[in-house]
Amino acid sequence: MSTPSSLPHRCWAEIDLAALERNLRSIRASLPRHMRYVAVVKADAYGHGLPQIAARLMHAGADLFAVANLAEAAALREIGPDWPILLLGALLPDEARFAPDYDVAVTVSSVEEVERLDRAAAAARRQLDVHLKIDTGMGRLGVWHEEVAPVYLAIRHAAYLRLAGVFTHFSSSDDNAAFTAEQRRRFLHALDFQCPDLDRESLFIHADNSAGLDTIEQAGPFNAVRIGLLQFGILPSTASLLSEVHAEPVFSFRTRVGLVKNLPVGTGISYGGTHILKRNSRIAVLTCGYGDGIPRSASNRGEVLVRGQRCPILGRVTMDQTIVDVTDLPAVAAGDEAVLVGRQGTADIPLAEFSRWADTIPWETLCSVTKRVPRIYRTPLGG
Ligand SMILES: *Cc1c(COP(=O)(O)O)cnc(C)c1O
Repeated sequence: MSTPSSLPHRCWAEIDLAALERNLRSIRASLPRHMRYVAVVKADAYGHGLPQIAARLMHAGADLFAVANLAEAAALREIGPDWPILLLGALLPDEARFAPDYDVAVTVSSVEEVERLDRAAAAARRQLDVHLKIDTGMGRLGVWHEEVAPVYLAIRHAAYLRLAGVFTHFSSSDDNAAFTAEQRRRFLHALDFQCPDLDRESLFIHADNSAGLDTIEQAGPFNAVRIGLLQFGILPSTASLLSEVHAEPVFSFRTRVGLVKNLPVGTGISYGGTHILKRNSRIAVLTCGYGDGIPRSASNRGEVLVRGQRCPILGRVTMDQTIVDVTDLPAVAAGDEAVLVGRQGTADIPLAEFSRWADTIPWETLCSVTKRVPRIYRTPLGG
């Protein structure tokens, strides 16, 4: 008997682990040698699958992993029992007592958090690492850059906490270099004037996300970068330094043609008949829809590749099916592969373009590929 896992795929994501490894090595090569690499693998490694991605990044030499929450940290612990992990999100009060179990470094932004964590670590009789986060203008986590001293001192006085890092996050590094420079200035000012006796050598001092690499400071105290999107081969912007990084897409999104048929001019296509055929047409019904993560906003707007050619989406994307125009491609047949994001022959639909059809950004697109979509890993180690 067949098992569900041996059935042909109707819609799947291909994840190229060798490309991921090359991307990490290329990013590293573009950075000063002393910069440590914090691999950001939150949200199931941007939808790519945490265990497989983290294992390959460990092999490629990431220094530290950053996740959003304790459940993600626990999943990482299964793969790399000793690998350092930074929790980027704020811990809930009732989560604090679990932090020592997973041996994670926790992001702190307030005296209250510091005191609560210190109590939790004391109760567990274990020392806990923390990274002090400074808000330099993002308005999200972190202590406001002019009010850092009390939090810094609370960490220094906490019996069970060890300051392992200081960091900030850029809110506009992909499109506002001037504001990013101001954020750097605020951060350095806070280190200089509000963190007495800061031992910069022993700490992770980090600010840059993928887009930050455009304006990274080669000199100064920064000694680590936090890379998410770029390691998956997606450029967050088109600016300068990044052009040295040879980033290849890791993710592609693929489906199949379930049915091909002819329809007469004037037929209304899909729910609501929002597309009326202007000619006698051949349409292909793809075996994917918004239930897989094809945004409904791509209705009457997006394109897919079939037989290496762009074919427009006709009418509404539905839960399980999407209709495309293949009138000009008479060879198209049921069973053909169709590409939603990625290459087919010489044609390519970049993730950024697909994201624009959904009025969103590549980060969100990667997080929107649903559980129904199997991730197929290419070039695993030893495979
Ligand atoms: C997600 C995240 C990153 C990674 O950002 P990319 O733009 O994907 O490189 C870095 N730092 C923090 C705090 C984050 O939340």
